Amino acid sequence: MDNLCEGCNGTCCRYISFPLKNRMDVAFSKARGFKIVDGIIFIPHVCPKLDKDGKCSIYEERPLNCRIFKPNCDVCRAVRKIKDEV
Ligand code: SF4
Ligand code: SF4
Repeated sequence: MDNLCEGCNGTCCRYISFPLKNRMDVAFSKARGFKIVDGIIFIPHVCPKLDKDGKCSIYEERPLNCRIFKPNCDVCRAVRKIKDEV
């Protein structure tokens, strides 16, 4: 696990994210209570594979999307802003 992830409690595993594309996305996201940070929509959804310690319970077999996700990427930085809010 990357040093940045220590203490983060798997924040990126607690949301599904999509790039914000247009004003309709903004209106829809606001109506549904989704978060928009730095041009990214975040939908709360805790991955069922996240364990109670905030770690991936299937780390060695995690999906490709999770393997290519890099700490300190744009989505990581944005989602950590949500974490800092709560
Ligand atoms: S949000 Fe970033 S720092 Fe936190 S666990 Fe995910 S990759 Fe690591
Ligand atoms: S499979 Fe593991 S790394 Fe991927 S979102 Fe779920 S808990 Fe996170």
